Amino acid sequence: MASIFTRIIQGEIPCYKVAEDDRFFAFLDINPLAKGHCLVVPKKEVDYLFDLDDELFAAFHLFSKKVARAIEKTVPCARIGTAVIGLEVPHAHIHLVPINGLGDLNFANPKLKLTPDEFAKIAASIASHLD
Ligand code: 5GP
Repeated sequence: MASIFTRIIQGEIPCYKVAEDDRFFAFLDINPLAKGHCLVVPKKEVDYLFDLDDELFAAFHLFSKKVARAIEKTVPCARIGTAVIGLEVPHAHIHLVPINGLGDLNFANPKLKLTPDEFAKIAASIASHLD
């Protein structure tokens, strides 16, 4: 069965998209640790990040870098923290989270509750800052 992220990429499940090319897709995490928390996903459905072949792995990180730069321009923060967990969704993804301190990247923290309008505005702003 297709992963939930494949279904999002295919438009079957809605999301707040921020970026897409032929191989990768980025959208807002629906349970964000911070405003601008994005997930970056390869369209190829591979569960474990380190099972990606070298070329796709490298390209995936370059795409994530582009998205991180756009988040930086949208959300005031000290830097963008990255995390790879993958215990919930078995489709490789990188979390990009605006952080100001170590505790901001703790996934046990309570998640933000944003309105659809807030999600949409953040996604549009990040998308507008892509190079
Ligand atoms: P992980 O697999 O890295 O442990 O966690 C998966 C992440 O995907 C979680 O942060 C969760 O909030 C996010 N997530 C799960 N389902 C959806 C969904 O349907 N839409 C969006 N935008 N994010 C999701």
